[in-house]
Amino acid sequence: MEIFTTAANLHAWSMAQKRAGLKVGLVPTMGYLHEGHLSLIREALKHCDKVAVSIFVNPTQFAPNEDYDAYPHKEEDDIALCEGEGAAAVFLPTPAEMYPTDASTWVEETVLAKGYCGAQRPIHFRGVCTVVAKLFNIAAPDVAVFGQKDFQQVAVIRRMVRDLNFPIEIIRAPIIRDEDGLAKSSRNTYLSADARKAALSLSRALFAAKAAVEQGERSAATLEASIRATTTAEGWLPDYVNVVDSETLMPLETVTPGTSAILLACRREGLRLIDNILL
Ligand code: AMP
Repeated sequence: MEIFTTAANLHAWSMAQKRAGLKVGLVPTMGYLHEGHLSLIREALKHCDKVAVSIFVNPTQFAPNEDYDAYPHKEEDDIALCEGEGAAAVFLPTPAEMYPTDASTWVEETVLAKGYCGAQRPIHFRGVCTVVAKLFNIAAPDVAVFGQKDFQQVAVIRRMVRDLNFPIEIIRAPIIRDEDGLAKSSRNTYLSADARKAALSLSRALFAAKAAVEQGERSAATLEASIRATTTAEGWLPDYVNVVDSETLMPLETVTPGTSAILLACRREGLRLIDNILL
C-alpha cells in the first residue's frame, strides 16, 4: 500500500492507475477509523480496482468553538486498518498541503446545506464541500463512497457533484452500528459510560419509528413527537428531529415509505450525536 502526503504524488498515482485501465475509488475520512469507515473501503472495492483512503481532519469544517484541536487521532493504526482492508493508497496531507495560507476560494452548496446540521453549524458544509472538491481534483476518482451516517452530507455532496459536473459516481453506504444499536462514530470516544448508555435512545427511537411506519403510521408529527420524548427522557435533547424527503431533504408532513427518512441530532453535556433511518 502506498502512503502519500502530497497532492501531486496522489494525483500522479491515480493517473497511472487510470492509464493502466483501472478504476479508482476514493473514501474520504477524518481518521480514527472504525468499522463504519472500513465498510466504505469494502464497498468501494466492489466498484473499483484501486481504493485510496484520505485521512484528513479538515480545519475549515470546524467552527472555532468546535472540537478541531481535540479530534482524536491514531494514524499508525489507521494505516494498518486501511492496508488490512485492501486499500491501495492512503493520503495523509497536512493542513498546509491542503490549504495555501492565502487560499481564497470556497465551494458552497446553498440549499440542502442550510437546515438540520447546517443550521447548527453554519460554516460546516462549506468546509466539507471545499475539501471534498479538492480531494476529488487531487485523487481524480471514478467512484467515491460516503456513509449514510452523515445523511445530509451525502445529499449535499451529490448535489455538488451534479451541479459542478464532477465525473464521479457517489455511493451511499449503510450505517454501521455497535451491536446495541449506537451508530459508530469517531466522536463516540467522548461519551461517558452514562451518556453512552443513554445514547441508545437515539437508535431505539428511530427503530421504533420505522416499526410504527411498517404498522401503518404516516404522520410525521406523531413520529417526531415520539422520538423527542424517547431521547429527552434519557437526557439527549433534540436539536432537530425531522421526517424528510430522502433526496431533497424537504420536511414532510406525511411519510412516503421508500422515499422518506428521519434525521436526528441530539445534545447532552456539550456532546452532539446524529443518527438517521430510511423509512
Ligand atoms: P468521518 O471520518 O467521520 O468524517 O467519516 C468519514 C466517512 O465515514 C463519512 O462518509 C461518514 O459518513 C462515514 N461513516 C462514519 N461513521 C459511519 C458509520 N457508522 N457507518 C457508515 N459510515 C460511516
